[in-house]
Amino acid sequence: MLFVGVPLAAVLSLAFVAQVHRDGYRNTPILPGQKWHVHDPDRPYPHEVVPSAAPGGPPSDATVLFDGKDLSQWTQYAGGAESTPKWKVAKGCIEIGGGTGNLYTKEKFGDCQLHIEYQEDKNVKGSGQGRGNSGVFLMSKYEVQVLDSYRASTYADGQAGALYGQYPPLVNPMRPPGEWQAYDIIFTAPKFEGTKVVEPAYVTLFFNGVMVHNHQKLNGPSAHQAVLMQEVQPAEDHIYLQDHGPSKLKFRNIWIRRLKGYDQPEEAPK
Ligand code: MG
Repeated sequence: MLFVGVPLAAVLSLAFVAQVHRDGYRNTPILPGQKWHVHDPDRPYPHEVVPSAAPGGPPSDATVLFDGKDLSQWTQYAGGAESTPKWKVAKGCIEIGGGTGNLYTKEKFGDCQLHIEYQEDKNVKGSGQGRGNSGVFLMSKYEVQVLDSYRASTYADGQAGALYGQYPPLVNPMRPPGEWQAYDIIFTAPKFEGTKVVEPAYVTLFFNGVMVHNHQKLNGPSAHQAVLMQEVQPAEDHIYLQDHGPSKLKFRNIWIRRLKGYDQPEEAPK
């Protein structure tokens, strides 16, 4: 039987595709570096994604990591073992742990689009790196710095929006403490072939809607007072929010999309 083991929906989808006229041309040049003709009718149609009704909200294909209710997508570690998160949820926000340790996603991620919002305390105290310090660690190694950098001074590659210890943000679009800040991060995981590093990690960052890193190549993991070069690591790892001691900070509206390449297998028609 031709279709043994193939889900019925897939069979119906293929049958539907075969019958439907698909716009395009096959007498056109092949695109350099691709297998497709220009305007190729056989090229898979992109999946349908429903955008959020509200700006900054999760689209339909996002994994919501925090929607104001609970920490069900998060975990902490105590003595090397997973433990119930000690960071608190109050008034629709996550409050930073205050010395209880970093807050990790339960799931692991590689290439991703991450949206996260944070608010520094209106009466933030301290100076330099002590001013509301936290961070978003991608694959547990690459920090996008979280800090109060509104007319507050620290070293440039350690201010809010910096790829910590490597690149300052291109500009500083930070709002005053007490107001919400938003990061939209596009992360490209490092690529390996066996024990060889083929590509390091890259980060694009929109900070309050302003692009502050444009597909910036990283040396390797983030480090304080040191340079670490890229080493082989697992293809995916946890994201964590940094507990940097006594900082007072809130997070809200956190969602993530796993990024896949062009020409994913087509969905059944809706
Ligand atoms: Mg930090």
